Amino acid sequence: MRILLFGPPGVGKGTQAQLLAEKYNLLRLSTGDLLREEVSLSSPTGRKVEQYLKKGHLVPDDIIFEIVDSILIENKDQDILFDGFPRNLNQARDLEKGLAQLGQSIDIAFQMHLDDNEIIRRLVNRWYCPKCGRIYNYITDPPVIDGICDADKHKLSKRSDDTEDVIRKRLKIYEAETRPLIGYYKSLGIYHEVNARGSQEEVLNKISNIVDDYLNIKCRSN
Ligand code: AMP
Repeated sequence: MRILLFGPPGVGKGTQAQLLAEKYNLLRLSTGDLLREEVSLSSPTGRKVEQYLKKGHLVPDDIIFEIVDSILIENKDQDILFDGFPRNLNQARDLEKGLAQLGQSIDIAFQMHLDDNEIIRRLVNRWYCPKCGRIYNYITDPPVIDGICDADKHKLSKRSDDTEDVIRKRLKIYEAETRPLIGYYKSLGIYHEVNARGSQEEVLNKISNIVDDYLNIKCRSN
């Protein structure tokens, strides 16, 4: 199974991706996480992409393909959840081609949506654990001890692109570059929209219902 999750920044993709990956035993492929890892390692790719991330701009497609292609090939027998990738039509088409070469395709594409004011409120209050990746929100889901991860007691960090200015820029880029994916996945007949308001569990249930329906239909047709 290959599932794809896209939506504006701050809509809760990362959190839902973590929960879904665990629930359905999927490999989570987050291009955002992979890029941040390159930056923190100060690798040649990390040095190339750092400024794009800081400014909230999309990283050039060739760098994204370089990172993603090898993961797809290495994990060709694994069910995958694409988190925040593709980000534009060019990436979507290339992903489709890459998967077709492996005899695969995307089964379900989810767009999570939320209004801009709620997105900004969520993102300026977002912190994360650089060690285990757990995401916290100081309004809806704060850590037990201020600034410390509940799970591994590591110090929490703030993403450099979670400032109001950069968030507004990322929202504009989403509208221009990523929103067109809606029409693309509708035309493939695999598009689903999920309202991201509500608790993590409520949103997870909405997505899971659609995944379960898909799995039931697949099971009956086999
Ligand atoms: P995310 O963690 O998904 O919010 O991504 C954080 C940042 O990484 C984005 O604002 C972009 O600068 C970059 N990025 C992540 N995924 C992609 C992608 N598929 N294509 C281009 N840039 C990306």
